[in-house]
Parts: sequence; structure tokens; C-alpha cells
Amino acid sequence: MSTSTRETLRDDIDAGVTRRGFIGSIVAAGTLGAGRSINAAVRQPAQAAASSGTSNAAALLGGTPVRRAPFPSWPVADAKEEDALVRVIRSGRWNRGDNVAAFESAYASLTGAKHCLATANGTSALITSLAALGIGPGDEVIVPPYTFVATINAVLLMRALPVFVDTDIDTFQIDSRKIESLITDKTKLILPVHLGGSAAALDGILDVGRRRGITVVEDACQAHLAEWRGRKVGTYGKTGCFSFQASKNLNSGEGGAILTDDDELVENCYRFHNNSRGRRNTGDDFSYRNTGANLRMTEFQAALLSAQMTRLEEQARTRDANAAHLTKLLSQIPGITPARMYAGCTRNAYHLYMFRYDASRFAGLPRAAFLKALASEGIPAQAGYTPLNKQPFLEDAFSASGFRTIYPKARLDQWRAQNECPQNDRLCTEAVWLVQTMLLGPRQDMEDIAEAVRKVQAAAPQLVKTTAVR
Ligand SMILES: *Cc1c(COP(=O)(O)O)cnc(C)c1O
Repeated sequence: MSTSTRETLRDDIDAGVTRRGFIGSIVAAGTLGAGRSINAAVRQPAQAAASSGTSNAAALLGGTPVRRAPFPSWPVADAKEEDALVRVIRSGRWNRGDNVAAFESAYASLTGAKHCLATANGTSALITSLAALGIGPGDEVIVPPYTFVATINAVLLMRALPVFVDTDIDTFQIDSRKIESLITDKTKLILPVHLGGSAAALDGILDVGRRRGITVVEDACQAHLAEWRGRKVGTYGKTGCFSFQASKNLNSGEGGAILTDDDELVENCYRFHNNSRGRRNTGDDFSYRNTGANLRMTEFQAALLSAQMTRLEEQARTRDANAAHLTKLLSQIPGITPARMYAGCTRNAYHLYMFRYDASRFAGLPRAAFLKALASEGIPAQAGYTPLNKQPFLEDAFSASGFRTIYPKARLDQWRAQNECPQNDRLCTEAVWLVQTMLLGPRQDMEDIAEAVRKVQAAAPQLVKTTAVR
């Protein structure tokens, strides 16, 4: 791919940052902003250079950064992707066709699912699943507060009520033990997220669903190739939803997929995502049995995905090995606690490498200052999500007349009273993320990350006293 094409792709991602919000910004900071922020840090006047003196001083205090080299860039593409796109262009068929069908069957066999339906993006996969399952006004859906906002938007768009279950702070996942107490006679769905590519506690979640007769849909948008007890996540729920958005481990700029073993449900999903029209070969083409929208994947996306998929397993292995090494290194640093994986999680996709930061072990250095100091050392890291259950978009949705008609005031008042997720609130103040692309380089990169954290810790007593971190 030519440099200019690559730049254009990057610009597209950059331009998407503000539009897409946080997940988009991860891409920028993790892969595109890395070089820039390092340069910015290096150029920054050393406000407290006097206190440094040695080469071991924090970069923020005028010392030498641990690294200047950027982390691996993303996306990864070569002639394989270029050829695939050129073939689509020349074929003259740009909308859903053979490439999409080929990708669907490849993704189904990769995951072990009976069916795969490709969609325009991950949000579409969620919306299509919920619509095909008949989730609608008046229904309640159990959700985690620690997720990308799309999980909750899909529920609100169905005019269903998202009911937040607190987070298990050790794993960053929905706390499966707290689901049952929030179930009412209106609860129609449990929608766990495999956050960061690690698996939510599926045993407990599926057990509650079975006992209470409630469907489970997995938001596996961050969890390509992740496994629970040796089987791919996304194949346990009634459906599993995936995203192939630019930041995700499998990337076609935008893209999504639904996995299901249910023959009838996949046809309902198909019709919904195809403006009510069924597959041509079923004779269902112009009979409109269900409502729908156009949420189809294009041939371009599918061709890119098929090419990208040839890299997926190897990239996953690299992330896995690097993450294991990083966990070993970071676990030795007081005040740094890597996210724990449940025993049932036999493979983590490491879309995010997540840990908790305890400021009290860093001389009280606030997390934001810790992140700034890390960035100066050449290690870009993120603070992650804010508490979704407290965001104004919820009350905004509830204030719409349709919502007020559907939900009795008493229910919404009860919802407000119950909408407390203290563990999640705490997690949102302590979390630190490294994006998946930082795990794609050599093992030495993990040493650099750990060294930078140790260096910031050693400099923390000085850093708290300077203005450089504010
Ligand atoms: C990315 C993501 C989505 C939405 O996927 P898009 O392809 O961006 O629409 C949904 N849920 C989670 C957890 C995600 O990370």
C-alpha cells in the first residue's frame, strides 16, 4: 500500500475519533498518537529539570524517556488487502455478495458457530439481535456499566430499559453474582460484554438465564478468538455480536457479525438487517413479515476481513505471549493490579490490556498525572470508561414521551434508586488501559512498559510536588 493511501486511512481513523468517542480515541492514542505524544513530551520544557540530574529522572522532570520509538502501527495491511479490494472494484459487485457469504462461512467455521450473519458494524449486530429476538418497549435488559456506550444504545434504541449490574472490580467484567437480584417479571434479556477481550463469567450468567428463563446475548465486540472453557465466546448466548471497527482486533474500518446456532433466528436477523426482505432462495424476497433496516455489510468490508483474518491467529498469539509477560512484570510492582481472568476464560483476546492503579502506592500521584508521566516515558495509556450508568443520555432517553408512556413513573423512580454501581465507580477512577496494538511488538516492549511504570513510581514523590503533571 502506498504511503499516501496509508496516511489517508489513518486520517480517516483520526477523523473518526471525535465522532466515535472513546473507543475511537484509543486508536488514536494507542497507535497513531504514540509518536506524536512522545515528541510533544520530549519538546516540553523540563519544568523541574533541576530536581532530575540523572538519566534516570522521570522524562516529565527532564530525564530521558524510556523509549522514543512508537508502538506498532495499526491497521496492518499489504498487497493481500490491496488485491482483495481491487478484485471487488473490478467485479462490479460492491454490495452484499460472494465476498460477504465467504466471510460469513469462514467466521462461522473459525468460531464453531452454525451461522454467521455479517452486518454493517457491531452496533448493527446488537440492534439486529435484539430486534430479531423481539426485545422492545417495556422490556428490561441486564447490562454492565463498564462497556462501550453502543451496548446500552442498542437497548435504548429498542425502547427497552437497561438495568445496570455492578462490575466485578477484580476482572472488570459484569458481576454475575449480582444479576439475579435485579431481575423483574419484565426482564427479557441478559446482555453481558466480554470486556477488553477477556471473558465475562459465562457459567454464572448462563445459569441465571436458564433458571429464570431469560435469553442471553453476548456482546463479544472486543473478544475475537477469546474462549470460555475451550470454546469461542459469542457461541454461548442465543446470539454473539462482534465488531470489526477500526480499533478492534479484526478490522475492516467498520463491520460486524452475529453468530447463532438457531436456524430460525438467523433468518429473522437476516430479514431485519435487509429491510424486511428474506433471502432470495427462500422465496421470501418480497414478503415483508418483519420490520427492518439496512444494516448490511459491503463486499469491500468482507474482502478486507477475509484478508485480515489470515493475520488474526498469529496476532492473537503475539498479544497473548506479550500480555502474559507483561502481567508477570506488572504484578511485581506495588500498586499495579492487572485485571484478573476468570478460571473459565481459557483464552483472552486482549483487545485491551487493563490494570488498576493504586495512587497510594505512588505517593498519592493522581491517575491523570500517572498517565501523563507514562506518556512522557513513551508509553501511551488511557484512563478508560466513565460510569455509563450515570451518563446523561439515560435520562435523556427516559424523558422522551414514548419512554414516559411505556414506563410507569414508579418503575423509573425504582430504577434510579437501584442504579448504584459502587465497585464500577471505583474502577472508573483506578483503571488504566493499554490498547491491543501495544502488545503486537517484541517482548522488549513489555519490559519498556514495566520499566516506565517503575520509573514513574520512583519519581512519584517528586512528581506530586511539581506542576509539570497538572
Ligand atoms: C466496538 C463495540 C461495540 C460497537 O461496535 P461498532 O462496530 O463500533 O458499532 C459494541 N460493544 C462493544 C463492547 C464494543 O467495544
